[in-house]
Amino acid sequence: MSPLKTGPEQNALPPCALEGGLHEVYALRYARMTERRVHENFLRRDMHDGPQPLDFFVWILRDRDHVILVDTGYGYRAAAERGRPIDFSPAEGLARVGLPPERIETVILTHLHYDHAGGLEDYPEATVHIQDAEVSFATGRCMCHEVMRFPYDVEDVATFLRRVYKEKAIFHDGDTQLFPGVSLHLLPGHAKGMQGVLVDTPRGPVLLASDAAHLYANLEGNAPFSLTIDVPETLNSYRRIHDLSPGADHVIPGHDPLVRARYPAMTVNGVELIRLHLPPHSP
Ligand SMILES: [Zn+2]
Ligand SMILES: [Zn+2]
Repeated sequence: MSPLKTGPEQNALPPCALEGGLHEVYALRYARMTERRVHENFLRRDMHDGPQPLDFFVWILRDRDHVILVDTGYGYRAAAERGRPIDFSPAEGLARVGLPPERIETVILTHLHYDHAGGLEDYPEATVHIQDAEVSFATGRCMCHEVMRFPYDVEDVATFLRRVYKEKAIFHDGDTQLFPGVSLHLLPGHAKGMQGVLVDTPRGPVLLASDAAHLYANLEGNAPFSLTIDVPETLNSYRRIHDLSPGADHVIPGHDPLVRARYPAMTVNGVELIRLHLPPHSP
């Protein structure tokens, strides 16, 4: 287990007083893949092998007046179908920390893979922000091939499309300033319409890379993750990630257990929240 310093147990998130574009950023971990090994996490398989688990998160952005959910994770159906158990569903986790999913009005989907876009039905009031390229890819001809569609779940894609027909989806074509202090950045390669979320916090900008970089090691070694549909685009996106952030402490990879080790955390009703708007522990 990583040396998580959670502090005292609380029963609700304390109110947030930030305004003027500054946000709190929390990672909520709902699942962990413990069996994973190094050789499964990189495109090149000539490195030393050993255990390398993956964590699964959704992210919460919060200021005085708003809550934004970045990705919806996956729930019990996908967990059973794919043999990837979860500790609780992301919607349950949100409810336990005092953010009822039925009241969340803004969801950003970084991409439509099953572990990022599941359970959208739990957020009936949410308007969903997504990249054009991701929707085109997930509903287009490449989905005729099992090797391309296996990270997607047709039920998630269908649920998203119903949101489009309810006029509760907003499509973006590349980078955009979504709200004061929150911008979206197209970072393709792992997925066609992969986007990261850059958030202003009291310690400076924090880039939620999601699966544009699963692990710190992908970025540090310029070593793409095993699931990559376009290697040159993936490498270009690594460069963009470096350009967008003032340093490695300002980039949060999508699945790295080191995030829990590096940042302060708190526990609310048994749900662990990693506080990415605070400086990391000194090494
Ligand atoms: Zn993905
Ligand atoms: Zn993922």
